[in-house]
Amino acid sequence: MKIGVDIGGTEIKAGIVSNGKVIKKITVKTQTNKGRKQVIQNITNAIKQLFNKNIKAIGIGAPGPLDYKRGILGKQLNLPLSNFNLKKFVQQKFKVPVAVDNDANVFTLGEALQGAGKKYDNVIGLTLGTGIGGGIVINKKLYHGRGNAGELGHITIKFDEKIKSKCGNNGCIEQYASARGICKRAKVKSPLELYNLAIKRNKKAISAWKQTGILLGIGIINIINSFDPDIVIIGGNISKAWKFFYKAMNQEINKRALLKGTK
Ligand SMILES: [Zn+2]
Repeated sequence: MKIGVDIGGTEIKAGIVSNGKVIKKITVKTQTNKGRKQVIQNITNAIKQLFNKNIKAIGIGAPGPLDYKRGILGKQLNLPLSNFNLKKFVQQKFKVPVAVDNDANVFTLGEALQGAGKKYDNVIGLTLGTGIGGGIVINKKLYHGRGNAGELGHITIKFDEKIKSKCGNNGCIEQYASARGICKRAKVKSPLELYNLAIKRNKKAISAWKQTGILLGIGIINIINSFDPDIVIIGGNISKAWKFFYKAMNQEINKRALLKGTK
């Protein structure tokens, strides 16, 4: 049995995994407003609630950038944990091997090994949340490049627009298809609001989701042309609005694809 932990800006989610299945899970608040000490305490508590003598290892997903080899977090935008050696800390506390990696990487690896990508060798994952994260799995292994490969949210899809991404560039896909981007473009407070409007058949909302699909498709075509993967898997909260954007997304991909057949 192992423990998997996802550290987000709002919630810490943790679960016990046995034979690739989550058999128990809990959620605690991250409480970033209470500072570094409290956040570390909350991570510890989350693991403690699940830990028992059968736990052989702990795997943690955290926001990047980070040093996955040493398990040290980089400059964090949404967590008061910059430069924190998470791996060392958890290892010393619980005395089992600990692995730390980028949250979108571990999402992709999870899907590639046990989820929608189980049958495939080459899997690309995209997490559509507040921002957009990406992960690259080649032959069932995560590809890290020099350390932080897979920043697919920063693929440029509109170079001549003046919308600045947090990376400092113009026209990153994150500025269009993330929660932040969707709210800005559709002038709504949350993607949920836009989702509910679309459910009520509001024309503007339906068209905003369609536009999201087109922009996402343009981003994904860059990924397909670069990696020719077996499958691209989309997760994150925004993926719950799948039915409103997938048709436009697939149309755009089919229209532009050099390489056909990626699922
Ligand atoms: Zn960017």
